[in-house]
Amino acid sequence: MALSMEMMRICVIGAGPSGMSMLYHLAKMEEQGKRIPDVVCYEKQSDCGGLWNFDWRTGVDEHGEPIHCSMYRHLWTNLPKECFEFPDYTFDQHFGKAIPSFPTREVILDYLNGRWKTVNAKKFVRLNTIVKNVIHNPDKDNFTVWARDQDDEKDLPPEQFSHIVVATGHYSFPNMPYFKGVETFPGRVLHSHDFRDAREFTGKRLLVIGSRYSAEDISLQCVKFGATNVVCSSRSGPMGLKWPAEIQERPLLERIEGQTVYFKDGTSTEVDVVIYCTGYKHTFNFLADNLRLQTENTIYPPNLYKGIIWVKAGNKRLMYIGMQDQYYTMTMFDVQSFWACRVILGEMILPENATMETDIARWIQRLENVTSFADAVDFQTEYVMDLCRESGYQHNLDVKYLFTDLDRNRKESMITCRDNVFKSKFTGTVSNKHTKPFMDAFDDSYDAFVN
Ligand code: FAD
Repeated sequence: MALSMEMMRICVIGAGPSGMSMLYHLAKMEEQGKRIPDVVCYEKQSDCGGLWNFDWRTGVDEHGEPIHCSMYRHLWTNLPKECFEFPDYTFDQHFGKAIPSFPTREVILDYLNGRWKTVNAKKFVRLNTIVKNVIHNPDKDNFTVWARDQDDEKDLPPEQFSHIVVATGHYSFPNMPYFKGVETFPGRVLHSHDFRDAREFTGKRLLVIGSRYSAEDISLQCVKFGATNVVCSSRSGPMGLKWPAEIQERPLLERIEGQTVYFKDGTSTEVDVVIYCTGYKHTFNFLADNLRLQTENTIYPPNLYKGIIWVKAGNKRLMYIGMQDQYYTMTMFDVQSFWACRVILGEMILPENATMETDIARWIQRLENVTSFADAVDFQTEYVMDLCRESGYQHNLDVKYLFTDLDRNRKESMITCRDNVFKSKFTGTVSNKHTKPFMDAFDDSYDAFVN
């Protein structure tokens, strides 16, 4: 049933890049003279920005809630910024000059804030407010949301919404498989979620378990900051990257005895620290079971039409943004949000259930052919472009060729891959070189990077 504007109330959960893209488009549509429904965004942290907010804490926050942050000091982006530049708010526009291609965390957060400010997107956000429970009410065909004001330490009265947009991210709840003997290891065992500063590991020998972005980046960071040796253990075989001599790859870890770690190929080595870079679990403990996305980290999660609409239960007014494994990031969240806003405002009509199910099945079947980085980028490019076409998004977001360059650079040398420069698709500006190579640049402050 189509809802009138008066009957609509939108609840966005999470004010990271995904949730803020929803708010950005709603605010922009309002600015363009469209009527938009009442919107509330609940954010458990004290500011918008999601993972891009650094938190020195690990474990639980000052309110006893799990820490969201999985980012660390000295983090430079692992993608060139040209891969996730907003066409309607370019890096040139924000910084007024060319800056290097792999900015630090603080620089990216500044850029995001700049875009949100142009339409005052933060006006919808209730900070320090955590969503505790969401249910669907079959009688009214709407949702009830229970949230808690963490400043006042008070549960808020339940509120009713016609639409729920879940944008709580999926890189905050660690996946930590058991390895025989790990409980007897005499040194530090941590997950990348709790990794905050590579200087802690200066002079140490590390075992890094995993083979994706976190494993790559944390290994390199630790060597940059003086770790003596890093052994990366991976289930899925060699990463195919060109590492410095201090980093070696081994097959899957088999067991740990004292400080000695044994691998599937019969080799072993001694280490001082074990870092799990074994990924994260999609966790939505605030959603009723029938609303909860259950998925591994994949580029096409199940039961989401166009990767957005929850088709399993209820009224197709529960949406998820940013739940895919990510090659495209900010721009993917942006076109997903634009698509979702147009659906909410009734400017696009969803097809029948059966058509949505068939569409999902078609995408998921195609996943069988995705076996490499290039395949995954191809797949996600098509997905993003499909959303662009359907929603009438004004820009072409295809930057597949930049990912190809990135892949080549990483295979040539992980040490120098962040020293490369890329050209903006939208302004034609070629980024400038950082004054120092990545491996020699230790100051990650905004000033050091931009000025
Ligand atoms: P998040 O950024 O995770 O934001 C989710 C928000 O929801 C948070 O603010 C959180 O506090 C809030 N929230 C959660 N639960 C609740 C609740 N119950 N109630 C209220 N609020 C809640 N991407 C890039 O583009 N470039 C990079 O270089 C890059 N590097 C990365 C490095 C690391 C270590 C990690 C972990 C990720 C990196 N990413 C990078 C990917 C990152 O996922 C995205 O850039 C982006 O942060 C995802 O945005 P999001 O809004 O979907 O989720």
